This record gives sequence, structure tokens and C-alpha cells, in this order.
Amino acid sequence: MGKKRRACHGRPAGHKIKAMEQPRQTTGDHDICARCHLAGDGCCRIADDRRGGMFGLTRGEIELMAQASGLAPEAFVEADQAEAAFVAGASKIHPIFGQTMPGGRRLRLRLQADGACYFLGPAGCQLPVAARPIYCRMYPFWFTPGGRLMVLGSRSCLAQQGARRVREVLARLDQNEADLRALFRRLEEFAAGHQPEAYDSSSPGHGA
Ligand code: SF4
Ligand code: SF4
Repeated sequence: MGKKRRACHGRPAGHKIKAMEQPRQTTGDHDICARCHLAGDGCCRIADDRRGGMFGLTRGEIELMAQASGLAPEAFVEADQAEAAFVAGASKIHPIFGQTMPGGRRLRLRLQADGACYFLGPAGCQLPVAARPIYCRMYPFWFTPGGRLMVLGSRSCLAQQGARRVREVLARLDQNEADLRALFRRLEEFAAGHQPEAYDSSSPGHGA
């Protein structure tokens, strides 16, 4: 992420997922994500013991990342098997998690040796915002199956610390519900046609 915040990041990971109550209040803290990353807690870094809980990418998102970066998908995507408990738990929050990791088969962001996302550079995410994974753009927000905005609870997320309402977190991250809802609809479209098979560098159209 650049200096300023903006929903940008990626990952759930073994952390507890919970809903917060809705409405009220605005604070506005434009450097909150930058401070979070400086403290080493930003959501673009995944600790070793949390990798089993990384979110799954859809083919549609991967294609956007490939177009924006000029890289072949296999450079930044790793195919693996997600932990069954994670997929089951996340699917209880919303079935879309199961759709993006069918049978636990997952296409996830490749990580650097220190646990940073492949695309994380010194100044933040190197992808243009429009090409970032939708989970990254929405985090820490999500929707319940009934369409209610919620926060994916994480103690390490600075934007959530001390917040009692979803609206407080929205304000701190300069997010709004309408934009998040539009992003989520897009993810639903991508998830509907998702194929979790690993990318094969020998396949036509996926060469380096
Ligand atoms: S794609 Fe960008 S925003 Fe998402 S985890 Fe990687 S560096 Fe962070
Ligand atoms: S404050 Fe939350 S959303 Fe921002 S970088 Fe930290 S974990 Fe990510």
C-alpha cells in the first residue's frame, strides 16, 4: 500500500472472524494502514503459522493481475490445498469462500521468503488498485449471506482496535458500503465461474 491507506491488502488467516454491530461515527485516519505496515502487522504479510488460512483467488482476479503486471500467473500464484478447518469455518461466514476454494483446492498469492506477498514492495502493493484481489480491496470488510456488512475481526488490524461499530472502521479506512457491495458482487461473478486447477506453464496463453 502506498503511504495512504485504502483497502488494499490480503488475507484472513487463522484469525477469529466475527461480526461487529453496524452504524455510526466517523473518525478518518488516513495513515492508519501505513502505520500498521510499519509496525509489521499489515495484512500483506502472512506469518508461517497463518498460511493455511490464506484466501483463494479466482481466475478472473488472476487474469486482471497478470494483465496489469505483465507476469504469467504461475509467477505470482501458488496452487495448494487449504486447511479443511479453515475452508469449513470461512464457508460458514459466507459460502463464497467455499466457491473460491472448492474441495479445498486453492490458488493463492505466492509469498516472499519473509512472508510478504509477492506484490508487496517498499512502497506498498505494486499492483494498481483496480487489479488487486478483491479480498485485498475489501479487507477487513465482508458481507454476511444475508447481505449485511461485517468486519472480519483481527486483533492485529490497527483500524479495528478500539472500534465498536462497523461504521467506525469504515471511516478509518475511508471506505463506504456501496463501493464494497459493488466489489463483492464482482467477486460473486468471478467465483461462479472459478476453476481451481493449477496453472500450467506449458498451457497455451500462460507462457512466461
Ligand atoms: S496483492 Fe497487493 S494488496 Fe494484496 S496482499 Fe499482495 S501486496 Fe497486499
Ligand atoms: S489497519 Fe487493517 S486493513 Fe490496514 S493494513 Fe493493517 S490489517 Fe490491513
